[in-house]
Amino acid sequence: MLRLAVIGDPIAHSLSPALHQHFMETLGVPGEYERILVRNEVTLEQVVERLRSDQLNGLNITAPWKTTIKEYTDELTAVAERIGAVNTVKVVDGALIGHNTDKDGFYRSLQELLQRNTVSHVGIAGAGGAARAVLLGVLQMAPDEIALLNRTVRNAEDLVESVANGHPVDIQQLTPTTLTDTLDRVELFISTLPPQAHAIFDEATLPGVSSPYRYYYDLVYSAACQQVVNQFAAAGWQSTDGLDMLIYQGISSMEFWLDEPIEEKLELPEIRQLLREEEAKYQE
Ligand code: NAP
Repeated sequence: MLRLAVIGDPIAHSLSPALHQHFMETLGVPGEYERILVRNEVTLEQVVERLRSDQLNGLNITAPWKTTIKEYTDELTAVAERIGAVNTVKVVDGALIGHNTDKDGFYRSLQELLQRNTVSHVGIAGAGGAARAVLLGVLQMAPDEIALLNRTVRNAEDLVESVANGHPVDIQQLTPTTLTDTLDRVELFISTLPPQAHAIFDEATLPGVSSPYRYYYDLVYSAACQQVVNQFAAAGWQSTDGLDMLIYQGISSMEFWLDEPIEEKLELPEIRQLLREEEAKYQE
């Protein structure tokens, strides 16, 4: 019996329980997956105690605990170390292993968007926690140019210093002008901005596309940001929201817990449909 949970604050609208319950049902793995609201470190310590005493076998971690949880783990995987954040924990012989599946989730979903095409010029907006996994995924493609745009330049500099491993990244302040200039030049643009920051796209000019294609990837999957994804699509960009990243990071977490590949046993269109319906419930 697999006992799993997701922690965060807020947590009520997390799609992870629906996603992982679906995985366990499809794979025939008996288990349960709960959501736990963690408001403070006292509650966080109680969850860690449940892991150590075998009442929980694995954990997903979302904001604001992805960095703090590192202090409670006994070991970090190389990718969690490089990203500096943990979104998945498993218990092995009583030891808590911290891992990060966001980069895997991003990279696998990006490959779906690109459909084997390569890109040389890439732009990224935002330099928060998610941008760390995104930058690592983009570096794996070894593009000629990476432009990173952020409201606070210092935060972008810190991110590049800890993640880019010396690879040159062109850092700029995020303004309607730098956004327009970057969009004009890149083949792939990834927004890691939260919903409240999407208004900047209304002030920028989206260039249209001739061949070859250009790609827009928005990490947000709530209906609130669908308008921006649609704007890019209308301008001819191949566009996607972050739902597939969520699905693939979940697949990677389950593979980490079970220690076996599961993707080929799953039907992605069915999972997308399930999560869109789940997401719609929260819009009502
Ligand atoms: P975060 O750590 O809070 O970072 C937010 C970033 O957005 C920072 O760079 C911040 O700039 C910038 N920002 C915030 N408000 C802004 C505003 N009003 N104007 C301009 N810039 C603003 O958040 P995160 O963890 O990176 O997550 C970002 C988004 O990605 C969230 O909406 C999250 O739900 C989504 N996400 C999706 C997935 C998925 O699986 N699809 C995974 C992870 C995250 P400063 O540095 O200046 O503060």
